[in-house]
Amino acid sequence: MNGVNDKEETLEWIIEQHLENAGPETPLHFTRYFPAYKFHNPPTKVETLEKAYEMAKKAGVLYPYIGNVSGRKYENTYCPNCGEKLVERYGYYVLKYAITSEKKCPKCGTEIPIIGKYMGKHYS
Ligand SMILES: [Zn+2]
Repeated sequence: MNGVNDKEETLEWIIEQHLENAGPETPLHFTRYFPAYKFHNPPTKVETLEKAYEMAKKAGVLYPYIGNVSGRKYENTYCPNCGEKLVERYGYYVLKYAITSEKKCPKCGTEIPIIGKYMGKHYS
């Protein structure tokens, strides 16, 4: 734990507020803090973000993410029913997109209420 916005009670509060106001199907992002300008605390520990992810998932958030941490499994979207990897990300890149055109999991058919449409790879 390193101080700002990452205490367990704070995380619990954020998750509660999210479920209450946005609902379980709305993605919740935990973004990693990096020191900038006059704020010199060390960067958020990856374990703290992963803990936040797990707390959110347990509390009923269907699509939690962690950000600013490239190459970690929790950047991806998984089917909340069967665990199939639906969207694979690396930083801002989408490496794999497996949701069907009917917005369903290709493995178990669960409806994935994703907003928008995958437009293909943009690497520019
Ligand atoms: Zn599935």
